[in-house]
Amino acid sequence: MVYGRLNFRQAVSKYFIPLGRERYMIVGPGWNGIHVPTDVGDYLGDFSPRAVKRGLKMCLDLDLCAADLHRHTCKSFDTLQEDPKITKRPPVLSPRAVLAKSLRVGMDFVPETDHDTMAAHEELGRQEGLITGVENTLKIERNNGSKEYDEIHSCTYCLDAGQYKEIRKIINVGEMTSMKGLERYVRFCEQESLPCTANHLGWKGRYAAEPNPQRIYEIAQLFDVLELNLHRVRMNNMNVFMLAYTLGKPIVAVGDLHCPIYGISYTLAPIGEDDQASHSGFTHSCCPSIEGFISFFKNILKGKFILIHHDLTPTYFAKEVVDYYISPSLTPGYSQDPNGRYTGITLVDLSMKYVLNGGIKDRFPILTRCVKRSLQNVNVVKKSIETLYMRKENRRAMKLHAGLRAIIEEKSISSVESVEVQREAYPSFVGQIGDSSILPEPMSLRQSLINPGQFIHSEP
Ligand SMILES: [Zn+2]
Ligand SMILES: [Zn+2]
Repeated sequence: MVYGRLNFRQAVSKYFIPLGRERYMIVGPGWNGIHVPTDVGDYLGDFSPRAVKRGLKMCLDLDLCAADLHRHTCKSFDTLQEDPKITKRPPVLSPRAVLAKSLRVGMDFVPETDHDTMAAHEELGRQEGLITGVENTLKIERNNGSKEYDEIHSCTYCLDAGQYKEIRKIINVGEMTSMKGLERYVRFCEQESLPCTANHLGWKGRYAAEPNPQRIYEIAQLFDVLELNLHRVRMNNMNVFMLAYTLGKPIVAVGDLHCPIYGISYTLAPIGEDDQASHSGFTHSCCPSIEGFISFFKNILKGKFILIHHDLTPTYFAKEVVDYYISPSLTPGYSQDPNGRYTGITLVDLSMKYVLNGGIKDRFPILTRCVKRSLQNVNVVKKSIETLYMRKENRRAMKLHAGLRAIIEEKSISSVESVEVQREAYPSFVGQIGDSSILPEPMSLRQSLINPGQFIHSEP
């Protein structure tokens, strides 16, 4: 299997399998000799990890483990906070509840990755299936004399408290760092054999500068694994897919969920060292441990992954925003940091800030009631997501796509053709590509994790 030789179009036609309108499956290029039938979707039931694992065993004879590699609990500043004394039930996003619910939908490994904190792991300690993790925030200065920066997020796994302390120092958490700082962080993870990923590339942080293609390209080069994210529009995820396949990097699918929803976007991979596609007789339910997770991650690095992914759609986003952010935030017993969560839709964000900052509401009760009522109306929110948010995100992703394509072509890595994503349609590909795409240099994969060259190898 040659990964790097594939250009974007070939990668899509070979490894991209639509599963309905909004969901798709991506097959890693590291499987030798497995043939995925086009009707594979019929085997996958409700697309929960449990059903998908059963279906893939049935039609491909694969024993796979599942994990959502990016998951938040109530220890993240931008999730809903509950007061159990008022709600009379344990918080739905407590680290324990998130672990239990994830295992119940069929996840084998549950990395809890809160923003710049390991509090969930301090609370839980070692638990069956739980994998230590954190989502690090890096503010990388633009070096153009301005105060502009890129906000980059990266998940690190299997780390302990001491290693996390080191990481905080390296990335200068809360303050500005440089590309050198980012490099030091990646090298540290490499030295310590800590798997890490580049999260939602192309996303613009709340106060960060517009994403710059050159910088995104450089950042993608630094990491071994890039992430497809449920909260990004398809065009954005396709940009990551294009970067991954032209740079010869594996990708993972994640939910990045901040609410009690489970098993929408996730990654499947086998555990165990043997190179056979099938692990008949291999039982993995007994060892959802760090060792198992490292093996799972190694197989992702070898390209032996299957992704079940769902892009951001107005329907999904409206449900999440209304049911799990706005409505509970306005209910007694629940609270939300007014500066924490934001949807990226200025209208919704300003209204929420207005309502959450309690002081104002006593002065203009009628206005507050109107704002509350419109916020809780799914159709109003859905419309504003469609018109204000999705359009903005699609425009941003399109611009980024053009920039990334130009860089990839200039570097003669591969001739990449233009991709055009229509609303509610699968990507259609236009333009001309040369057949002899030049193989990219294999990226240095983490030597401590896998033998170099196993993931991408050029055939003479
Ligand atoms: Zn993030
Ligand atoms: Zn996140």
